[in-house]
Amino acid sequence: MIYDISIPISVQTPVWPGDPDVGIFLDASMDKGDPVNITRLAMSAHTGTHVDAPQHFLNDGRSVESLSLDILNGPCYVAQLPDEVDEINAGVLDRIPIGAGTTRVLFGTRNSRLWASGQKEFRQDYVAVSRDGAEWLVAHGIQLVGVDYLSVAPFGDQFSTHIVLLKAGVIILESLDLSQVPRGFYNLHCLPLKLVGADGAPARAILIG
Ligand SMILES: [Zn+2]
Repeated sequence: MIYDISIPISVQTPVWPGDPDVGIFLDASMDKGDPVNITRLAMSAHTGTHVDAPQHFLNDGRSVESLSLDILNGPCYVAQLPDEVDEINAGVLDRIPIGAGTTRVLFGTRNSRLWASGQKEFRQDYVAVSRDGAEWLVAHGIQLVGVDYLSVAPFGDQFSTHIVLLKAGVIILESLDLSQVPRGFYNLHCLPLKLVGADGAPARAILIG
């Protein structure tokens, strides 16, 4: 079974406050007499399902084209957290059976339902990983962490969670839709666009299991 955990990219896709709305333009249109259709995109590298590279928060950090495909692809645990969980912190993580030796983990939360609702407005009250949650993940050998809204970090504190993870070389995968995926082990396949020198890139991400 293949689960497509990428969100659709359209002019309706919610974006981080201050980022430009997604622009999809038909530069050539057969309806208007052109011989072909040609679409042009205008959007942030952090649009839709995407990865953050260290350079996003660390100016001398690696950029996205150099991220390891060995980390981006492989066995992965999907946790499904109950709606009462507002923050993925060390206490919450202690209770999740991630399994010794697991290096990739994705967190399904109530956020995932926001994608199905088709709501374009950005929500500040999304579930995210706290600083001590990020430290827990690094201490437990996690190399890739995925979340189901636009940022891995709480709205009011973007820096500490991102910096703890990115300094440790953890790849961050954001804006997943995990609403249809039961908790358990899968094989993750995540292929970010090879954008040279960029701090992030949109990705198609699927789970097979
Ligand atoms: Zn991002």
